[in-house]
Amino acid sequence: MTPPFCNVALPVPLRTAFTYAIPEALQETVQAGSRVLVPFRKKSMVGVVVEMAESAPPGTKIREISRVLDFVPSLTPKLIELAHWIAGYYLAPVGEVFRAMLPPVTELKSQRQIILTDAGREAVASLSGGQLSHGLSSAEAAFLAKVKEKKGAVLLGPAAKLGVDAAALQRLQRRGLIEIRESVEGRKRRTQRVIAWKGAAESIEKDEGKDNAETLRQARGERRTQRNRREEIEEEGIAETPTAQRKSREKRIRELLETERGPLPLPQLLKLAPVTRATIERMSRDGLLESWEEAIDPAEDPFDAGYAPPAHELNAEQENAMQRIRARFALGEFGVQLLHGVTGSGKTEVYLRAVQETLARGKTALVLVPEIALTLWIGRQCRSWFGAKFEGVAVLHSALSDVERAREWWRVRSGEARVVVGTRSAVFAPLENVGLIIVDEEQESSFKQEETPRYHGRDVAIVRAKMESALALLGSATPSMETYHHAREGKYELLTLGSRVAERSLASVEIVDLREDFQQTHQTSPISAALHAGLQECLANGTQALVLINRRGYSWSVLCRSCGASVQCVNCSISMTHHKQRNRLECHYCGSIQQIPTICPKCQSKYVYFFGEGSEHLEERLRKEFPGARIARLDRDTARTKRQYQETLGAFAGGALDILVGTQMLAKGHDFQRVTLVGVVSADSSLSLPDFRAAERAFQLLTQVAGRAGRGELSGRVLIQTFYPEHYAIQDAVKQDYGAFFERELHFRRMMAYPPFTSLANVIVRDVSLEKAIRWSRQLSEYFSPHDDKGVRILGPATAPLARLKKEHRFQFLLKSQKRSALTKLLGGALAYCDAKEIPDTAVLVDMDPLSLL
Ligand code: ADP
Ligand code: ZN
Ligand code: ZN
Repeated sequence: MTPPFCNVALPVPLRTAFTYAIPEALQETVQAGSRVLVPFRKKSMVGVVVEMAESAPPGTKIREISRVLDFVPSLTPKLIELAHWIAGYYLAPVGEVFRAMLPPVTELKSQRQIILTDAGREAVASLSGGQLSHGLSSAEAAFLAKVKEKKGAVLLGPAAKLGVDAAALQRLQRRGLIEIRESVEGRKRRTQRVIAWKGAAESIEKDEGKDNAETLRQARGERRTQRNRREEIEEEGIAETPTAQRKSREKRIRELLETERGPLPLPQLLKLAPVTRATIERMSRDGLLESWEEAIDPAEDPFDAGYAPPAHELNAEQENAMQRIRARFALGEFGVQLLHGVTGSGKTEVYLRAVQETLARGKTALVLVPEIALTLWIGRQCRSWFGAKFEGVAVLHSALSDVERAREWWRVRSGEARVVVGTRSAVFAPLENVGLIIVDEEQESSFKQEETPRYHGRDVAIVRAKMESALALLGSATPSMETYHHAREGKYELLTLGSRVAERSLASVEIVDLREDFQQTHQTSPISAALHAGLQECLANGTQALVLINRRGYSWSVLCRSCGASVQCVNCSISMTHHKQRNRLECHYCGSIQQIPTICPKCQSKYVYFFGEGSEHLEERLRKEFPGARIARLDRDTARTKRQYQETLGAFAGGALDILVGTQMLAKGHDFQRVTLVGVVSADSSLSLPDFRAAERAFQLLTQVAGRAGRGELSGRVLIQTFYPEHYAIQDAVKQDYGAFFERELHFRRMMAYPPFTSLANVIVRDVSLEKAIRWSRQLSEYFSPHDDKGVRILGPATAPLARLKKEHRFQFLLKSQKRSALTKLLGGALAYCDAKEIPDTAVLVDMDPLSLL
């Protein structure tokens, strides 16, 4: 018998699961991994069943599950295991871990309903006598009467239309006349009509085909609407008799549906044929077509159409790497390989073949990439390799709508898609029988989630590969210090692609010393004379250029010349960024918005000026300096949806643009063939950050972006503008010498006892109240101090570099240890101590293996 209880992880920042009773009727359907709707406090919440339980903890009131969302449990047992590992390793609340894993809930919609109470009914009844009682206004009385009319319940949204405001609703609620309840309802799955060919061949071949059909229709007593008739006449010519035109249209539809494409969603058919809806309807009535409703198909990537992947013969280095990968597969056990290949060495080709090999062995493959833009690119290649009619490949990233994401997710869960391409969270894709997990550009910081649960996608990928006895294949031109160190120590197997394909050379990199540029030009334009000349040359030659800037927005600081104050976010200790097009200041940390000040908010002087150019500004400048050029910008402001990414990247790849300006998202992975110039507007700002990874990051970014130039037949050139040309990160990037950089940086890390020689954890104590944040930091400090220097070094508490974030004051401890297990143990103890001292779970943030110490 199924146990009558289960433990449910809920998306709340608490470190426990909650026990619920399973009602009789649901006992068959509830399983570990199922999503369920449960009452929690005063709300309904979707959680996931973590395990079945024989009994409930004594002394608590146990509530019942209200609904089961899944016929098949959303999460596989392996994913549940992985979630527990993450919760343990990152010391993260288990419910938040599961929340990160689950598909978006598209099956439910919640509504707030106004319900008439018994007292409310009485009031309405006594009102019908004509007098106003209960101290109600006439509007309120009329409202109550209307609610009663509607069987005593209305939705909160339209209620506003019923002539009462929120204050009146509150009054009525306080008096107990109405109740406001949240109700959760099932939502219909969004479907679309799919059309298939059904008709007998004669109806097209024979001239009388149509007449037959017409007779048939009349016999069935079907009638055509006026509108249909009109459309059809317009489209098919005045004659209703079969015409050559009409036959050719039917023939085209048949070709499409029968041989070329198979059954098609209606909108697509209308576009491809092209015909109007009326024609399709007529043909359906004539029995030529059949149709049914189906869950909406994956949105087609417009660039998929007609895309044929290049069929390359592997070169010797690639072949060698493939052999080592095959050898791993043959072992059939867990392993990690690092594919270290310079930019343009053809890593993608190796990935694709590794995936192919995996599928051939009957297993599934997961490909993680650092950017949404790359999921489109790699996804397209995977589809053309593995996805007959695109079904075998699913793409998962955050720019998909919830409906799209849920659909892709379930295609994976049902086993229909066997290859997943996605960004960080796709590491949780519900694939079974995983044989290969690829992490492309494994060094990218976007793999680290900077909110709870603060997992690193690459590290989780490795753990998942281990659970599945699969191969983790990490790829990069500039591996992270940690990964390359492991490879050199023999923990990972190192595969090297030392040169670009087809004997292409790496782009030549030049430094533009901004100090010199200023002395010569006395201009403060972010585009130096050299970069300007380079762009000019590109335009003249008809080749393309990328221009990289590491900040978005128009100006990243608004300063007062009089008092020197900068406009800060009201919630965070951070300058507001000026966005010109949206005509406002925005905080890039909490999203708050302010009007653009005309006088200084602090001293009222009118000498407000804007400082520090961002991508929006750079785009404007380029347009001014190169009026004839076709320019677009790609950053998080211009690319919010999948469609926007596709449009811009597609236009650039297709040669419809000359210059593409953008933030880091341009630097990664793209294979644009006609780019001959890459300009880096400022390489410095990251070097001045108080962060031990600053040099590594700068080196990686510059090498990556340099790798975007000269990938086709044409050779490439890179211009790096900087104020610190002597810095070793910049020097080694100019030479594109990973080995030299690695040695130098490793030396520094060893001296300073930083990763990969130690493990770090960053602990933030935070609260809206400064007093509380200080008190709790002190308490935590009392716990830590006797442990200091016994295997773990504890620094802090200190004010965090971001002293205030989203209204909260922040204090920081930094923990360092040679042994990760010592860190985990100490922090586990610290969290238990916080519990005992009644410091709330949300006040103490643990970041294991932090990438950023802000
Ligand atoms: P990376 O990811 O290493 O920077 P890509 O995988 O994007 O490099 O490959 C760079 C280019 O080289 C692509 O245009 C790809 O089609 C091409 N390419 C890959 N392998 C070969 C090969 N063996 N011969 C010729 N061209 C190749
Ligand atoms: Zn001022
Ligand atoms: Zn803010």
